[in-house]
Amino acid sequence: MQRITILGATGSIGASTLDVLARHPDRYRVHALSAHGRVEELADACRRFKPARAVVGSLDAAERLSQLVAGLGIQVDHGEQALCEIASSPDTDTVMAAIVGAAGLAPTLAAARAGKKVLLANKEALVMSGQLFMDAVREHRATLLPIDSEHNAIFQSLPAGYERDPQAAGVAKILLTASGGPFLHRAVETLEAVTPTEACKHPNWVMGRKISVDSATMMNKGLEVIEAHWLFGAPSELIEVVIHPQSVIHSMVSYTDGSVLAQLGNPDMRTPIAHALAFPDRIASGVPQLDLTAMAALQFYRPDFNRFPCLKLAFDALGAGGTAPALLNAANEVAVQSFLECEIGFRDIDRVIAGVMDAVPHGPAPSIEAVLAQDALARGSARAIIDRLRS
Ligand code: NAD
Ligand code: MG
Repeated sequence: MQRITILGATGSIGASTLDVLARHPDRYRVHALSAHGRVEELADACRRFKPARAVVGSLDAAERLSQLVAGLGIQVDHGEQALCEIASSPDTDTVMAAIVGAAGLAPTLAAARAGKKVLLANKEALVMSGQLFMDAVREHRATLLPIDSEHNAIFQSLPAGYERDPQAAGVAKILLTASGGPFLHRAVETLEAVTPTEACKHPNWVMGRKISVDSATMMNKGLEVIEAHWLFGAPSELIEVVIHPQSVIHSMVSYTDGSVLAQLGNPDMRTPIAHALAFPDRIASGVPQLDLTAMAALQFYRPDFNRFPCLKLAFDALGAGGTAPALLNAANEVAVQSFLECEIGFRDIDRVIAGVMDAVPHGPAPSIEAVLAQDALARGSARAIIDRLRS
């Protein structure tokens, strides 16, 4: 019986994880669930899965949840310390890291430091802390499995022994596919005026609002390039982004002998979640089998940095190294939130990020504290730029 903690249980990934777990009560038991604010939804999940612990974002939310789950014997807590506890508890084996954004860094790192099996959806945590996070995984013998559909596809397509050196193991390119999001074919001049609702309407995936906007700017792919660099030890020249609007091929690995291995499937996150939960076994996920004959033609394009400047900013941050990806991530989080609140326009997102990357010098990332200090500086700088844009 594998005991599971889900960080971010009320989100899109959290809900898909619970859906897969519910199909296999003989294999998995839920140890703990967390949510930030959606207390009623978390209470529903608590009634269904009867975890030992539940963690929410505030004292007020904890009091409301305690009332809703009274009598179930669930210990209810709030705050970051409690998140770190449920991620590192001796009573859990596996941690699904599905909090969105930098808020997930501390508990995800706590899980790695406790040597857990970490199922990583929270790409922002790895983008921020790359080397430090991977060092913690190695030092504490944690198992890190990618949930991001592309990285899960790459992981399934890589050769044995890639961890030491992907190129020596025969990898010529990691082909990271991207849908191109809702604005792939929209006239670039009209992007200034798109609304949050339009930006969140992803053609293939139903996801949280932040990652939906990231998909529309393609910052999501930029963060994923950095994520792939750390997960697979791949230099940036080895990673190529390919736009594939149908999201049927979830990514590919091209080998020196000319072979290309791909992982295909319906666009449903329950597939990578089930893969990582059961790895190296295979379990049912609830996702229908792919019907190849019902599929339309598959298309592939090169990404256009004029249309998607955020992708270029991310490649630049990876090239700069050190705390540059943490600055990029923090600036993006603030800009996306501000766009979602209708304070700035869609194209202002890349302007804010570029402004922060110019204004805040990046440096080495010797500790998590140093990374968090740079994260705070970038957030302050982003807010100042947003104030200027609005005045
Ligand atoms: P979501 O917005 O649907 O859910 C986010 C979860 O995090 C919620 O449970 C919320 O309560 C919690 N949360 C939010 N802010 C918090 C905070 N400050 N402190 C603690 N908890 C907080 O997001 P999602 O779409 O499920 O994405 C989660 C993560 O998975 C993101 O990092 C995203 O990039 C990644 N991801 C998502 C998908 C997808 O299909 N949704 C695919 C690949 C990767
Ligand atoms: Mg992805």
